[in-house]
Amino acid sequence: MHIETLAIHAGHQTDPATGALVTPIYLSTTFERSSDGTYPQGYDYIRSNNPNREALEKCVSQLENGAVAAAFASGSAATMSVFQALSPGDHLIAPNDIYSGTSLLLKDILAPWGLAVTFTDLTNLDLVTEAIQPNTKLIWVETPSNPLLKITDIAKISEIAHQINALCVCDNTWASPVGQSPLNLGADLVVHATTKYLGGHSDVLGGVVISKTENEFFEKIRKIQKVGGAVAAPFDCWLVMRGIQTLPYRMRAHSQNALKVAEFLTDHSQIEQVYYPGLKQHSGHEIALKQMSLFGGMISCQVKGGKEKAFAVAGKVKIFTRATSLGGVESLIEHRASIEGKGTKTPENLLRLSIGLEHPDDLINDLAQALE
Ligand SMILES: *Cc1c(COP(=O)(O)O)cnc(C)c1O
Repeated sequence: MHIETLAIHAGHQTDPATGALVTPIYLSTTFERSSDGTYPQGYDYIRSNNPNREALEKCVSQLENGAVAAAFASGSAATMSVFQALSPGDHLIAPNDIYSGTSLLLKDILAPWGLAVTFTDLTNLDLVTEAIQPNTKLIWVETPSNPLLKITDIAKISEIAHQINALCVCDNTWASPVGQSPLNLGADLVVHATTKYLGGHSDVLGGVVISKTENEFFEKIRKIQKVGGAVAAPFDCWLVMRGIQTLPYRMRAHSQNALKVAEFLTDHSQIEQVYYPGLKQHSGHEIALKQMSLFGGMISCQVKGGKEKAFAVAGKVKIFTRATSLGGVESLIEHRASIEGKGTKTPENLLRLSIGLEHPDDLINDLAQALE
């Protein structure tokens, strides 16, 4: 089935009790046992399972062509579960431009716990091979990357990982399951912050881990989910399910709008550099063509005139909102270096744009007046 059809039907079913088309939100924390002590519907306690969570897990595993999924309270909790499923003493390789929250998780929480990590440039396969150690168990991919939209070759990294019996995990948040299918390219697990494109309306926090196969590693993730308890709430699962129904159409429009804005910025005299994988001159364009079916809604650009000018531009927009995050229907603009704070390698004149679903001409006019 095509992704448009899956997005609408996977995990959804008419409510057997009432005939309701839309899945009810099951808030009950506990479920009745039979007189023989069993749980006839398969649910016992909300932390262990819940119909809305189960529906979302079924839905996202089908969207990513995986076998199983686990839904969490945030993208970061989903990410955390993958790292915790490793063992103290294990080593992993991660991109040196990894999402800043994931970097903090690794450095401040998991390093003291005993996980060793080498951050390197995953777009350079020689550097990845050099970073391998005897205890390397996992390679973490995030593509397109944040905020420079570097493109990592998922198939090649998966090959390198499998040669050493390590796992390849892809944070697919920026591309979404519509733009890129890491499991089909060789990755073993996919992580999403559903907070972004899957939710799609900037009103829900969540995360999922999807596994290509049911295996021992995923069983650990499942245990961390149920015992650790950072589970997704029923209403949050319901909101993400609703968002997903329009995901394929939203992603197409995000991508079309972003390409138009990226082309406008490329031609603008006040712009030094534009980062968008859909542009021919983008360093990762060839690989993006090979592994992405849509280039997504995220653009970064460097403004002439340094930090001050970048701030001034962000200060003058009227349709874009100055805010962090991405993937919602509304366009956002962000001075990334000041969000990431001290020690950031992000250029001071860089603005990151999350291109929404407004008319592209209105977005272009807004940027034009702000750049004047
Ligand atoms: C937002 C984001 C996360 C973290 O998700 P939260 O839901 O905010 O915890 C992880 N990876 C990427 C690429 C993200 O954009």
